[in-house]
Amino acid sequence: MSTKREDVLNWDEYFMGLAHLSAKRSKDPNTAVGAAIVDENHRVVSVGYNGFPKGCSDDEFPWAREGDTLNTKYAFVVHAELNAILNSKWPVSGCTIYVSLFPCNECAKAIIQSGIRRIVYESDKYDGVATNIASKRMLRAAGVELCRLENTIHLEVHKTRNPEMNPKQD
Ligand SMILES: [Zn+2]
Repeated sequence: MSTKREDVLNWDEYFMGLAHLSAKRSKDPNTAVGAAIVDENHRVVSVGYNGFPKGCSDDEFPWAREGDTLNTKYAFVVHAELNAILNSKWPVSGCTIYVSLFPCNECAKAIIQSGIRRIVYESDKYDGVATNIASKRMLRAAGVELCRLENTIHLEVHKTRNPEMNPKQD
């Protein structure tokens, strides 16, 4: 008789994995961030990743981090959290958002105003930076629960040619 698997991902780890998978869609050469929004019944409500707004071509807009504002990504990129909120077909009020990196102050505003009640994150590498302090100040004032994951999730995705695919029918 076989026993059940014990070393499974818990819900928070599983949805953080989904956030990481969503990040695989990002074209950002330096920082690919993904987010997942999940309701209290563990149903996925929305996902997002960092990228330029619709109609703004990845080939025409800049990915640079340094230089004049208009030549850097910062003027144009929509963060994963905001994309996940804006892309949602359903209200995100009362939901949890999963994001690998602690949300910036601009995303914190959107998270609070959308009614998201809990943030699960892995890294807080900008702790102490002014925008991070502003973000935490707003989130705490609004009573949003902040949870850092005890385990970080590492996702390896491999894309291999489908052996059942007929090469002539490409
Ligand atoms: Zn942000």
